[in-house]
Amino acid sequence: MNIALIAHDSKKDTIVNFALAYKHIFVNHRLFATGTTGLRIQEATDLPITRVQSGPYGGDQQIGAKIAEDEMDLVIFLRDPLTAQPHEPDITALLRLCDVHDVPVATNLASAEALMRSVEQGLLDWRSIVRED
Ligand code: PGA
Repeated sequence: MNIALIAHDSKKDTIVNFALAYKHIFVNHRLFATGTTGLRIQEATDLPITRVQSGPYGGDQQIGAKIAEDEMDLVIFLRDPLTAQPHEPDITALLRLCDVHDVPVATNLASAEALMRSVEQGLLDWRSIVRED
């Protein structure tokens, strides 16, 4: 599966720890990330990651474009709900596209954990069938 990882600044440490905890699963998938998130995860895990622009510079839109092209199967987006983001419209657009294309998306750690367990158990294998259509 193609998996996108994005975290706002206050959630960067959380997503790094998350990536370390689930490295054994991530290693079997293709990872994409916004600029800084991807760099932090790469440094911590050594996992290969395709990095796009930083979120405020268009990275969320680039991930959104992959969703629109049905090239993304799962999005983990640890948002900071307590801080205003300059690129809020991009964030909204990305999440909207997840809903349009039925892409599983987690915006907090609890949901992210649940989705990873689903990946581990093969419960999201239907994504590859959808993508082949
Ligand atoms: P970043 O972008 O990974 O480059 O920090 C994430 C975001 O702020 O949307």
